[in-house]
Amino acid sequence: MIAAQGYKGMTVAVLGLGRSGLSASRALREGGAIPMVWDDNEEARNKAVSEGFELRDLTKQEAFEGIACLIVSPGIPHLYPEPNRVVSAAQAAGVTIDNDVSLFFRSYATKDWEKFDQLPKIIAVTGSNGKSTTCALIHHVLDHVNRPTQLAGNIGRGALDLDPAVDGEVVVLELSSYQTELARALTPDVAVFTNLTPDHLDRHGGLGGYFAAKRRLFAEGGPDRAVIGVDEAEGRYLAGQLSVGNGDDRVIRVSSGQKLSGAGWSVFAKKGFLSEWRKGKQIASIDLRGIRGLPGAHNHQNACAAYAACRSVGLAPRVIEAAFTSFAGLPHRSQRVGELNGVAFVNDSKATNVDSAAKALQAFKSVRWICGGLEKEGGLEGLKPHLDSVTKAYVIGREAQGFALQLGDVPNAVCGTMAKAVEQAVAEAEAGDTILLAPAAASFDQYDSFEKRGEDFIKEVAKHL
Ligand code: ADP
Repeated sequence: MIAAQGYKGMTVAVLGLGRSGLSASRALREGGAIPMVWDDNEEARNKAVSEGFELRDLTKQEAFEGIACLIVSPGIPHLYPEPNRVVSAAQAAGVTIDNDVSLFFRSYATKDWEKFDQLPKIIAVTGSNGKSTTCALIHHVLDHVNRPTQLAGNIGRGALDLDPAVDGEVVVLELSSYQTELARALTPDVAVFTNLTPDHLDRHGGLGGYFAAKRRLFAEGGPDRAVIGVDEAEGRYLAGQLSVGNGDDRVIRVSSGQKLSGAGWSVFAKKGFLSEWRKGKQIASIDLRGIRGLPGAHNHQNACAAYAACRSVGLAPRVIEAAFTSFAGLPHRSQRVGELNGVAFVNDSKATNVDSAAKALQAFKSVRWICGGLEKEGGLEGLKPHLDSVTKAYVIGREAQGFALQLGDVPNAVCGTMAKAVEQAVAEAEAGDTILLAPAAASFDQYDSFEKRGEDFIKEVAKHL
């Protein structure tokens, strides 16, 4: 655990007692602060009490008397669609609002660092898609070269649950827009922006607010190195704004699909090859095509971002290449779960929105596509240009019929359940096909989580293998 610094002897309120709230409370206590905690949910409150924390009903008037700061969990709206009433009350009382990620940035460095030969570093990754994969890949490479490393954020442990730093360590931190928007301290050494597509718009007051939340990670005077995906206008704008002229190599531009030119530092993937260019010269090239853990152009984008982040902490191209080849990928993201008579089975249950499902469909040929579930706002219109690789769709979910109707000319079968979808897809598949779960919808109509949905797919596939 990291002890929270800066609040010794002070009373700090914590709103929301899920994973991040409890971990913030523990870190505050460890750092000598007095946490006063609250959650609307009784079960969550009881858990905190069982750990010895004192409750304070933050919904009551006068609750903020003597409080130095309010720590808010990422799931609690602090601005849009409207601020939670506790957050509003704290603001009215003039209390500072912050989060666990910010406490981590303020607390990670300690006096012990004076004894270290090599200062620890933080790589923080944000963006709409690919954050977890990029983080896992960076962590895998660092681990492969025996550099001390810890993984935190949405993936792995909460930031404050990490162990105190050791000499030369690199922390890899995945940050969501909710976290970057609220954190008062955000000071990574290397910051990565993977890409931007519309998501969580209600929480950010639209796309502009969503982008503004993510780009706080790159505020002026911010990271030593910024790795920025430039395949959307927002990334190009950000890269341009952070660099003084196009030769400024504090920024590494990343793309999947376009060759990047100019005097600056860039890493791009084209036709399955990653290339690094610096000062107008090619530095390195890696063939990504055979790497099983990184199929498709979207994963090549993640590979470029991870490569650039690893270069930023001093790793050599060949070392990174060697580590890439043993990356197994993450569960539920382009996860190859088996093969039968030349038919591959791939679990991409994490493709909960149209954009990520489109990327998964483009990564494979002759796809028998298992899709459907709880539809996200905006419908399936965005998928239409990406259905060329689909041989047939097998639709699951409570609203399978309605989902299937939106697929246009694509041959489809309304299956309803995973068991039926897998069974029919297996019966109809031919050698060379890929049976791909990439639902383009949330899982909550039939499952507790996308993980449970992916596990169900794996279980059903196993029956046929
Ligand atoms: P995040 O942590 O940002 O949600 P993940 O790595 O967990 O990202 O991937 C989420 C989903 O998006 C998966 O379905 C995955 O296949 C897809 N995906 C991964 N990388 C990218 C990318 N660079 N662009 C678009 N989609 C991606």
